[in-house]
Amino acid sequence: MDRMRVLNGHIRSEDVTDDGSSPLQIAPTLATPGYEGFQHAQTMASFPPAAHDVFRFDDLLTQEERDIRYRTRAFMEKEVAPVIADYWEHAAFPFELVPRMAKLNLGGATIKGYGCPGQSVLGTAMAVIEIARVDASMSTFIMVHNSLAMLTIGLLASEEQKRELLPDMASLKKIGAWGLTEPSNGSDASALQSTARKVEGGWVLNGRKRWIGNATFADIIVIWARSSETKQVNAFIVRKGMKGLRTSKIENKIALRCVQNADIFLDDCFVPDSARLPGVNSFKDTNKVLAISRIMVAWQPVGICAGVFDMCVRYVGEREQFGAPLGSFQLVQEKLARMLGNIQAMFLMCWRLSKLYEEGKMTHELASKTKAWTTLRGRETVALGRELLGGNGIVADFLVAKAFGDMEAIYTYEGTYEVNALVAGRGITGKAAFKAAPSRQPKYVQA
Ligand SMILES: Cc1cc2nc3c(=O)[nH]c(=O)nc-3n(C[C@H](O)[C@H](O)[C@H](O)COP(=O)(O)OP(=O)(O)OC[C@H]3O[C@@H](n4cnc5c(N)ncnc54)[C@H](O)[C@@H]3O)c2cc1C
Repeated sequence: MDRMRVLNGHIRSEDVTDDGSSPLQIAPTLATPGYEGFQHAQTMASFPPAAHDVFRFDDLLTQEERDIRYRTRAFMEKEVAPVIADYWEHAAFPFELVPRMAKLNLGGATIKGYGCPGQSVLGTAMAVIEIARVDASMSTFIMVHNSLAMLTIGLLASEEQKRELLPDMASLKKIGAWGLTEPSNGSDASALQSTARKVEGGWVLNGRKRWIGNATFADIIVIWARSSETKQVNAFIVRKGMKGLRTSKIENKIALRCVQNADIFLDDCFVPDSARLPGVNSFKDTNKVLAISRIMVAWQPVGICAGVFDMCVRYVGEREQFGAPLGSFQLVQEKLARMLGNIQAMFLMCWRLSKLYEEGKMTHELASKTKAWTTLRGRETVALGRELLGGNGIVADFLVAKAFGDMEAIYTYEGTYEVNALVAGRGITGKAAFKAAPSRQPKYVQA
């Protein structure tokens, strides 16, 4: 019974185990050490060595950025890779890993002070790709917490709010979520419908949010809602357990299955005046946060594809057919070459984008262009990897199937491929093409 509640994301693992073991006591799978079902190639439980960095991109990083990269890689390969496929299979969040992840000192990422590490954008990106290389759900978890929830507070909260909220979030004692999207407003987020009515001493929030990552268990949720006074979009801190706040986990996803995405119901949820973020006065203020978080999302496919490539290189060396390792065949080698080319190009584009941001020269159009392009190439790369593993390409234990599903979510969130391509297109032509042309009577429909 308790196990089922953990699997459903209703309680934390520490509530049911006190011996430090995984709460998932499930039947053995291929990824379980000692399982004898398939002996011809190793699963992700023992993670493959990195084979993807052929252009020596480490030379583009500072020593600190390299340290972040290799510290994160070691943690992910050793502590996350052996267990994460089971969590993904059961759509459960690995709470047991959070205190261990906190030791990497990644909480708050680019924010300076308040217990945060104040990393460079590139250092933060190195952590993102190394996490995503093993598991995209974990990278999404930390990005929602860092690059959306914490960054909104870091950039747009009052000094008092920052001092109160950021230190516990930096140490991952408190987890954040970020609620912008609504059932009726996904791509068209600026027209959001949730309302904030001013009352004495505070605000009353009403509305619905959809897809909000971490929201089933988050301690702090940033909610975007339209002020009844100004009709402009404002942002509010809503805390776990507040009256009028309800969350419901979105089930049956085929991507990022460990991430607990939720529908949020706000029914006359009262928050005090102190919960309003004073730096948010219109929807445009979301851009201050999304500028950095979109860079990080653009990096995510680099990490996902690097993991897939590394797994494929090992797999085609181990698995034999027709009397030879798969890697001996020309068609297999062409796929590997195409995947590797994509990864190198994606890395360079994201690296340049990050540098432009740090130099104050990045535009939103460039960030959107990069995010759209890396997710497009990422989708192609994981699909090639999925082909290379044959039947095992649809089994999460070999990483590639998990990554294949996860790429789908990244193609869609933080602006879909299409909407980001339209932002890039506006940058190229100077013409916005988001609104539909006026309707006409369909030509080919019979009366
Ligand atoms: C796994 C996951 C995690 C997420 N996490 C969060 C989160 O933590 N917080 C949060 O606030 N949101 C989150 N989101 C929401 C995400 O940002 C939205 O899903 C995304 O913006 C797309 O909105 P939609 O799903 O409603 O699709 P829609 O807007 O309904 O789009 C459907 C299709 O229509 C296309 N389309 C829409 N408008 C146009 C147009 N003008 N021209 C051409 N094509 C168009 C889209 O590209 C897409 O192909 C998450 C989503 C997912 C899937």
